[in-house]
Amino acid sequence: MLNEAVKELLNVQVNKEFYSAYLYLDFSNFYEAKGLDGFASWYKIQAQEERDHAMLFYQYLHNNGVQVIFEAIEKPNVPLENLMDVLKAGLQHEQYVTSLIYHIYAAAQEAKDFRTTQFLDWFVKEQGEEEKNAQDLINKMEMFGNDPRSLYLLNEELKTRVYAAPSLVL
Ligand code: MG
Repeated sequence: MLNEAVKELLNVQVNKEFYSAYLYLDFSNFYEAKGLDGFASWYKIQAQEERDHAMLFYQYLHNNGVQVIFEAIEKPNVPLENLMDVLKAGLQHEQYVTSLIYHIYAAAQEAKDFRTTQFLDWFVKEQGEEEKNAQDLINKMEMFGNDPRSLYLLNEELKTRVYAAPSLVL
């Protein structure tokens, strides 16, 4: 049996991950409209990954006998103005998600729910990668974003990202 508080936080996280998917689809939407199809494709894949995250929390809850309660998914709330702001908002969002994961981890630890801390270990590592990816994009945009030819090449590079299912299987 999962601890009540932990159960609730895991359920909230399902919604947060779907929100992340929705937010990144909006980023993709923004770049697509700007004609930056590589950026658009990169964020479309990112949105797929977030949906996978949501489904991992969903499945983990079900594997522990908990039916998920779906709440409304918030409207993407990041103003999409210029190429760089979007990337910075992406990093900020990932840092926020990391804080959510840490919060659940701490609650699980307090409840001595080591099954959940073990489940969350994958997400702790994943968040490290997400923050690095977001920072790498900012760095590249800082270096190359102001030169149209370099931006074109960066867009081509981002186009090569391929979707990979999460390495965590429940
Ligand atoms: Mg996620």
